[in-house]
Amino acid sequence: MNHLTPLFPGVFTDDRPIIIAGPCSAETEEQTLCTAQALAQSGIRVFRAGVWKPRTKPGAFEGVGAKALEWLVKVRENTGMAVACEVATAEHTRLALETGIDALWLGARTSANPFAVQEIADTLKGSDVAVMVKNPVSPDLELWIGALQRIYNAGIRRIAAVHRGFPSYGAHVYRNQPQWNIPIELRLRYPHLPVIVDPSHIGGRRSLIAPLSQQALDMGFAGLMIESHCAPEEALSDSAQQLTPHALSSMLQSLEVRPRREETDTLDSLRRQIDDIDAELLDVLARRMEISRVIGKYKSEHRLPVVQPARYNDVISDRVAQGLALGMDERFLRTLLLAIHDESVRQQLSE
Ligand code: PEP
Ligand code: MN
Repeated sequence: MNHLTPLFPGVFTDDRPIIIAGPCSAETEEQTLCTAQALAQSGIRVFRAGVWKPRTKPGAFEGVGAKALEWLVKVRENTGMAVACEVATAEHTRLALETGIDALWLGARTSANPFAVQEIADTLKGSDVAVMVKNPVSPDLELWIGALQRIYNAGIRRIAAVHRGFPSYGAHVYRNQPQWNIPIELRLRYPHLPVIVDPSHIGGRRSLIAPLSQQALDMGFAGLMIESHCAPEEALSDSAQQLTPHALSSMLQSLEVRPRREETDTLDSLRRQIDDIDAELLDVLARRMEISRVIGKYKSEHRLPVVQPARYNDVISDRVAQGLALGMDERFLRTLLLAIHDESVRQQLSE
């Protein structure tokens, strides 16, 4: 991917972040136009809206389909903003190109599927539309790069990657784990590829959009794609994570855009990774303690001793062996495991 050209030429200058905003889904003409109008008034230049929505479960709102493409054209006519929508099949792509949509994106569920990506890439041949590729649902950098390469090989030169995080099983602070090391590795491998962060899908909640956006800018990412809806509580998809255009505008104004300096970017991004890993560690520890308490309860109901030495020895030696295989120090491992075990026993005794 050596010959990329600017994603939205003339719209964003080199040192300003690319900002894309709009509703998760285009639901009605009125909702689409009124959201767009308000966003345009606050200076947004690129509007996004999902027309076809790939949903995890059947029965969820799947988008209104092709008729919303016309609403996007109206948005462009009324506001001058460039317009973008998601495509998941060759047919979506054909329709979006025919309608003259300015930018397309491949969603996480699509970029995970090389057949779908290739079909889309084949349909894109000969067009100069801008294409954004969201990371696949699994934390697989090679699969993400593969999807970007398929688009590039189809002759598309205005390409960006969009980091939307990676879902993982269980309840977490974030809807999708940021795993910043993955998009950072992508940037290291393709320094000319803009990598845009989607804090809406990473955070999953309104309150997390601002801190995630600031983190993304601090780490020197190329821009933000943020969901905004004129009445978020009534949104038919992703209601909890959408901001009103007004809230989005104040949030953007509160962000600090620091000049990009290579060395602080690197240190900052490494520190962010440590922050995230610590958050994950605490999350995992809290889940372990929770299960310990359930076990404690079971033991007390069945009159079993809290500490069962054979089990204790097995656990410690098994975990020490795992840790050694991962290159960690044995003394450190024993100290850590003992501390965890002690706390676990204390929790069980209190059940
Ligand atoms: C979206 O952008 O609304 C969307 C469906 O995103 P993702 O593919 O990241 O889930
Ligand atoms: Mn969404």
